[in-house]
Amino acid sequence: MEIVSRVLPQASIGMRRELLSLHYGRRGDGPKAYLQASLHADELPGMLVIHHLRRLLEQAEAAGLLRGEIVLAPAANPIGLAQALLHQQPGRFELRSGENFNRRFTDFHPLLRSGLEDCLGNDADANLRTVRARMRAALDAQAPVTELDALRLELSRMALDSDLVLDLHCDSQALLHLYADAPFWPALEPLARYLGVAAVVLNDEPGGTTFEESCGQSWWRLAGELGPAQPLPLGCVAATVELRGQGDLDHGQARRDAEALYAYLQLRGHIGGCAPAMPPPVPAPWTWRGMASVSAPTPGLVLRHCVVGAEVKRGQPLLELIDPLENRVTPVLSPAEGLLYVSHPLRYAQAGMELCRILGRADASARVSLA
Ligand SMILES: [Zn+2]
Repeated sequence: MEIVSRVLPQASIGMRRELLSLHYGRRGDGPKAYLQASLHADELPGMLVIHHLRRLLEQAEAAGLLRGEIVLAPAANPIGLAQALLHQQPGRFELRSGENFNRRFTDFHPLLRSGLEDCLGNDADANLRTVRARMRAALDAQAPVTELDALRLELSRMALDSDLVLDLHCDSQALLHLYADAPFWPALEPLARYLGVAAVVLNDEPGGTTFEESCGQSWWRLAGELGPAQPLPLGCVAATVELRGQGDLDHGQARRDAEALYAYLQLRGHIGGCAPAMPPPVPAPWTWRGMASVSAPTPGLVLRHCVVGAEVKRGQPLLELIDPLENRVTPVLSPAEGLLYVSHPLRYAQAGMELCRILGRADASARVSLA
């Protein structure tokens, strides 16, 4: 295993940060997988999972089982990890700019689309190499000034030529779930089984600049636009894995998650040896259109009636908001029948604050066909 350091540009005199990554196996010789944790720096379960995965990969490397390269970035956001404000660790947004750390990654599609047909032929593997080279050139053309833009660029560079990218996040309080673009679902379905996810949410619309979308989306968009004479494989399968809630830091659970990731890497041929038997299927995926965000219509103390994991009916009281000055109790009702899969543990809500999210079962038209 090799530890690689990437130094970020100075944000201030006398201060320099580095981004560290762990590289297992052999670069450029076989498939490549890239896993990162805590891009939202206050989402730490993924860091613990990588801590356990690291041990498994060291054993595999010693046994000569690695094929190609596996890269781990256990602390993908040294900027956010160092943030502190009034004894809290705000890690989702950069305090300096207010930007979400997991937005504004490069959208390769418009950069690659122009003139692409002239560079491609009828050899899918050659086309894949050509697209990756153009992606690399697009990144090399960037000249970031801020530390945050440089961090985004370095993370993109590490992931660029990966066949598989897994971005490990979590939510406030949540079930284990997975976000991905719909074309990747057949490739990701075994991962969902090994992890035993409670929900999968698929995106089938272009756009979006999260890290995962930046890594994967241009592949299926370009492949869909090119004719059959110029085949293009899905060069990078990408997913965001939401490892439950921020407080879910547990060795046993993290060890099981690491073993699930290891099994999936075996199944995909990144690691030799027999992958464990496939667990049963997970619930059918939803799309983003099936997701309902529930916000506070009025300020108040938050008293909950339902916990994460509850199956709720449309119109069922999820919680109530209490205003003791107005002597007002405002019930907040579920907008859909479905699964309460994310909740924010607010005790007091200002008007408009998100309280929880529901994956609606009633909107059957929004469900994705697995065929
Ligand atoms: Zn996150």
